[in-house]
Amino acid sequence: MTVAPTLPGAVTVRVPAKVNLELRVGPRRSDGFHTLATVYQAVSLHDEVSVARWDEWQVVPAGTYADRIPTDGDNLAVRAARLVAERWAVDESLSIRIDKDIPVAGGMAGGSADAAAALVACEQLWGLGLDRDELAELAATLGSDVPFILSGGNAMGSGRGEQLAPVLARGTFHWVFAISDTGLSTPEVYAECDRLRERDDADVPDPRVSPELMAALRSGDPAALGAALHNDLEPAAFSLRPQLRELRDAGVEFGALGGVVSGSGPTVAFLTESHEASLDLSVSLAASDLCRDLRRAKGPVHGAHVVTSPRGD
Ligand code: ATP
Repeated sequence: MTVAPTLPGAVTVRVPAKVNLELRVGPRRSDGFHTLATVYQAVSLHDEVSVARWDEWQVVPAGTYADRIPTDGDNLAVRAARLVAERWAVDESLSIRIDKDIPVAGGMAGGSADAAAALVACEQLWGLGLDRDELAELAATLGSDVPFILSGGNAMGSGRGEQLAPVLARGTFHWVFAISDTGLSTPEVYAECDRLRERDDADVPDPRVSPELMAALRSGDPAALGAALHNDLEPAAFSLRPQLRELRDAGVEFGALGGVVSGSGPTVAFLTESHEASLDLSVSLAASDLCRDLRRAKGPVHGAHVVTSPRGD
């Protein structure tokens, strides 16, 4: 694990990953995107992003997945910070430290999380006085998942996933995430989804979230939620990575209430009955040798929030 000091005067923002409890993918639009209907849940795998004034732009990677992120202008946190600087004519450069604990290219919106965190951190560092709606509007220009990561909790997403609506939900859910060594590219998974649909001459209806999933969230019943988990990208992820199907099936056999590929994968998310059940499932999956990297988390949790600020607020 890389250790990097936090610079004096830094603002640090803690930001969660997401899992899609349901992901319905509509037909491909003329702009290349797909219309989605999804229900997001923010889960307790976190990155921390710290920004501080510096004499040039730099990214300092740290944490579990430090060696998997770009350190140049392609880093989504840098893109977000530069967007804020341009929009508000702030002529300063930043050192951005990213403590990376969210899997990279794992379908858990790790890059979007860092973009959301950088927005919140820059807003605070530069004292811009933006409200959540103004931040959400900026967030939507950076990526489909970024607005949700700002708000956290549970939410329904439509459009490209960036148009959010609240979801009535109760309870805390306990997850095990099975993480692959190598990521899957989101555009490749969508392309494979289109290819499979074309090959099968599939009828693609307008995407809608199922009433079963909404009822499960309202009741807070993990068994009902486990049965309602669904991802239209799963066949594409299984086609590109056949061993993921075996992993999903094994987790369910070992007692998970449900298992689903998270977003575009390759992370597989397993819902369990309780904290203890998530420990048991982790042990069984680790012993099965189907997956080496297992993480337990709970959801829902809060979205991006400031944890350290020199302004003291
Ligand atoms: P999503 O669930 O939003 O589709 P993902 O979780 O599958 O995304 P990310 O972790 O966001 O994928 O990474 C996608 C790509 O973005 C990676 O290949 C990585 O090189 C690039 N990237 C740019 N900045 C970051 C960052 N700060 N953290 C992670 N990846 C980043």
